[in-house]
Amino acid sequence: MVPIDDSLHKNLDTNITSVITHLKFGCKNMKNIIHMSKQNSLTHLPAKLNMLSHPCPICIRCKMPKLHRNPSVPIASLRPGQMLQVDFAFMNQRSIRGFGSYLSCICVSTKYSFRFCSRAKRAPKELIRWILNTLKVQNKITNFI
Ligand SMILES: [Zn+2]
Repeated sequence: MVPIDDSLHKNLDTNITSVITHLKFGCKNMKNIIHMSKQNSLTHLPAKLNMLSHPCPICIRCKMPKLHRNPSVPIASLRPGQMLQVDFAFMNQRSIRGFGSYLSCICVSTKYSFRFCSRAKRAPKELIRWILNTLKVQNKITNFI
């Protein structure tokens, strides 16, 4: 743990110091931090701390309800090509060849991945159809995407 420089605290507002201290201690309850400061149980802890004037965004995010996840699927019994993970993404910059997006396709059972670069920004339905037909010709029926 790095001690907070006291000269820095003289220039900062007490509220900002309180926020920084709250974040430094990993979003610990401010009542506990103020109590530790008054008890002088930790060295280099600012002497004057306030309760947070605004709610901490990290604490708010942690208290939000979590999204419900679907039950996990056992993949040990899947045949190659039976389940694919398909993602269409855009790149920050166009490549030298003018590609700005790509389709990523991963076979869940074999972990084999395919990437198909694209210059268009529309969903590559024809490409996905081609992948499914190619797997079908190889006698690998895809049931889940
Ligand atoms: Zn917090």
